Amino acid sequence: MAETAYFKCLRCGHEYVDEYTPKVVEERTCPNCASNSVRRLKSPPAKSKAN
Ligand SMILES: [Zn+2]
Repeated sequence: MAETAYFKCLRCGHEYVDEYTPKVVEERTCPNCASNSVRRLKSPPAKSKAN
């Protein structure tokens, strides 16, 4: 069962939401720069940089 997860590209810093299926390893590519250096975030990216 897929769930919504947040991903961030380590190359260009692009953050996006995509479906994530636990226990299933998928190779992901950044929709912005096509890099495969995409990391899943445990929490939604903060829009403000207050901290
Ligand atoms: Zn990117």
